[in-house]
Amino acid sequence: MRTQVGIIGSGPSGLLLARLLHLQGIDTVILESRSREYVASRVRAGVIEQGMADLLREAKAGERMDREGLIHEGINIAFDGRLERIDFPKHTNGKVVMVYGQTEITYDLMKAHIDEAGGIVHYEAPAIRVEGYDTESPRIIYEQNGDQKELVCDFVAGCDGFHGVARKSVPADEIKTFERTYPFGWLGILSDVPPVKEELIYANHERGFALCSMRSHTRSRYYVQCAIDDKVENWTDDAFWDELGRRLPPETAENVTTGPRLEMSITPLHSFVAEPLRFGRLFLAGDAGHIVPPTGAKGLNLAASDIYYLSRALITYYKEKRTDLLDRYSESALRRVWKAIRFSWWYTSQDKL
Ligand SMILES: Cc1cc2nc3c(=O)[nH]c(=O)nc-3n(C[C@H](O)[C@H](O)[C@H](O)COP(=O)(O)OP(=O)(O)OC[C@H]3O[C@@H](n4cnc5c(N)ncnc54)[C@H](O)[C@@H]3O)c2cc1C
Repeated sequence: MRTQVGIIGSGPSGLLLARLLHLQGIDTVILESRSREYVASRVRAGVIEQGMADLLREAKAGERMDREGLIHEGINIAFDGRLERIDFPKHTNGKVVMVYGQTEITYDLMKAHIDEAGGIVHYEAPAIRVEGYDTESPRIIYEQNGDQKELVCDFVAGCDGFHGVARKSVPADEIKTFERTYPFGWLGILSDVPPVKEELIYANHERGFALCSMRSHTRSRYYVQCAIDDKVENWTDDAFWDELGRRLPPETAENVTTGPRLEMSITPLHSFVAEPLRFGRLFLAGDAGHIVPPTGAKGLNLAASDIYYLSRALITYYKEKRTDLLDRYSESALRRVWKAIRFSWWYTSQDKL
């Protein structure tokens, strides 16, 4: 099989890249190790910045987001029993954030790219490795229905997340990695209850950090910092709500509507950057190249920023035969990545909040 851009991974990075390239007449094939249903139901990010919202609109997959997403013009910081609001437009020349779940974004991109445009995604087809990335015809070796197959491409986009194979296809001496694991985890609950406040609340408390977030007017996402070795089995729904309440100012805690969990999970907090993000004709994008702790709500937005640079570089190559943007991809993407890594580290560090 042959394509112009072979994409490993059909998370937000892979789908968004495929969609933007498709709109410019560039062929792609996505290889995804999981099933479509599994990818569509993964609960993750929920806060998207203006840049990502604009990119979804450019991908013609932003219509539902504009209809159903919640625009937030600020956040609240809780500490010492107080609640203080930060006004985004006032401090960022009018920019706002949008609350719209990653599952919804994935659904919209699948619908636009696969169902409506006929884009090719092979589900349950895990890539095993990338070969010949320093040649003009890199290849992705993958498995499908028990057979080993090969996808020959002009370029390979490694959009396969932190545990993917694209980064691991590069010899260790060609790649530099930077890593920090935080000594605590994040216990999150998703529940069909109205959010305690119309905007997010980040709470600093001696018992640990807490976040009141949401996915819609009727679905809330709350987090409390927990021990790194804690287990979901240790937490009943009531225990979670009690602990959340203890970490919020009393008048806020009184207004929390509690309910049964739709989902509960513990996320380890981790910062990671790989340098560079380009190896010949192999490009890393999104979580394949970097991870931030979810505290700062930057991961998905960084993935979109990578795809912004990568899609423009590939489109310029195919339309104008120019390689300068491909040559600058790693440097341009990493400049933004390091700023977000620093911000997320600062925001996650207990003593700095
Ligand atoms: C609990 C939680 C909350 C978060 N909250 C936020 C938030 O509020 N805001 C924010 O911006 N970010 C947030 N993030 C981060 C965000 O979810 C990620 O940054 C985002 O999913 C990255 O997208 P991606 O497409 O690069 O990678 P992924 O979403 O990880 O997608 C990679 C895809 O590649 C597939 N794959 C892996 N290996 C292979 C292989 N060998 N072959 C083929 N396919 C493969 C995987 O199955 C997956 O579908 C959160 C993350 C978590 C875990």
